[in-house]
Amino acid sequence: MGEILRAIRCPNCNGIIKLDFDNIINYCPYCASQLTINTSLVKDILIEKEKTKQILGRAELQFQEKKLEAKKESLHMLFWVIFIIVSFILMILGGLLEAL
Ligand SMILES: [Zn+2]
Repeated sequence: MGEILRAIRCPNCNGIIKLDFDNIINYCPYCASQLTINTSLVKDILIEKEKTKQILGRAELQFQEKKLEAKKESLHMLFWVIFIIVSFILMILGGLLEAL
């Protein structure tokens, strides 16, 4: 990944254009001619970048899903703990009422 890939010469005025890979269309700062990044090499870089973005995005999504699942599971656990405690208290109260 040399400097060549980040800056190319304008086909119109031969000025050096620094490529902004976040935009497919770049503009020459000297003659304002529109430049579409379309050489196969640059395209490959863009695809790589896109792929990396996708992979990172998917990993992030999976992480969020797992986090949500863990949260759900802990809520489920909490529900059962409360349920058991409440039924235990009711059992004790029932026993007390019967004793009275
Ligand atoms: Zn130009």
